Amino acid sequence: MPKGKRYAKRTRRRPAWVGVLALLVVAAAGILRYLGVDWNTLLPAGAGAPAASQTAPEGTLQVYYFDVGQADSELICLPTGEHILIDAGTSSTQEELVRQLRSLGAETLDLVVATHPHADHIGGMAAVLEALTVEQIVMPVTSDSSTPTTQTYEALLDAIGEEGLTVTPAQAGEEIWNGGGASLQVLAPNAQSYGDLNDYSVVLRLAYGADSFLFTGDAEETSEEEMLSRGYTLNATVLKCGHHGSETSTSQPFLDAVRPQYAVISCGVDNDYGHPDQVTLDRLEAAGAEVFRTDLQGTIVAFTEGSGVTMTALGKGVEAG
Ligand SMILES: [Zn+2]
Repeated sequence: MPKGKRYAKRTRRRPAWVGVLALLVVAAAGILRYLGVDWNTLLPAGAGAPAASQTAPEGTLQVYYFDVGQADSELICLPTGEHILIDAGTSSTQEELVRQLRSLGAETLDLVVATHPHADHIGGMAAVLEALTVEQIVMPVTSDSSTPTTQTYEALLDAIGEEGLTVTPAQAGEEIWNGGGASLQVLAPNAQSYGDLNDYSVVLRLAYGADSFLFTGDAEETSEEEMLSRGYTLNATVLKCGHHGSETSTSQPFLDAVRPQYAVISCGVDNDYGHPDQVTLDRLEAAGAEVFRTDLQGTIVAFTEGSGVTMTALGKGVEAG
């Protein structure tokens, strides 16, 4: 199957009225400017630029690990104002996620990465694509037999088509972002085909000054072994533990290579899977990593100016922004 066709379930053109509406909005904004009217005063409170308290100090990069229950969603806010979203939780938290993204000033997402097509990672992504402006979307290439036929995945492909986006296939070893002083490299998947959809997870390493962040999706031991054998730089100040802290991820050899100062586990309160596994928590403790958990502490935020990361837990039920 040719590249690009793989994800193109149905491609619909943007309806003509969308273009007309956009022109009208641009024209109205121009007239208001001509009349000396401040466009922002016409917006409802909170709909304009984020409040000063929500704006990162200059030179500061922030990473939000959202409390989205037994699911994953992380937002990188670059010091130059761009935003990168990794996963979007389930459909049950999608409205809340969109609200939080807006309150953080992420009306435009410069890059969205769907680590793998499981509902706890892409369930809220169609809603995000519809509500916000997305510039680019990256996904793993799954083998024909592994490609899901779930409604959630089909809805995401529909939304991608409706927004006129083309999926960029994740290629291990490639840099998919360089800007704002930050670089984002794809470290996995490294094989064409896996028995478990989790191992297709796009793994990303974000480097900013002396600090780095590893985002692992639900990658398990198989993928971890491949990343080790490829010889990638894996060390990271903050590790988002694979597969919600399951014992099938964050293996000892992988942890030895990552050597995280902080570990974040994204999982739901009293979840049915028993995540995080005690084995994983013990390994992290022995490695000297300080563990942060969304099920116990709500959304977790990491701040860095490139020379040391500060971690903050916002608390349960507290929205970011
Ligand atoms: Zn998951």
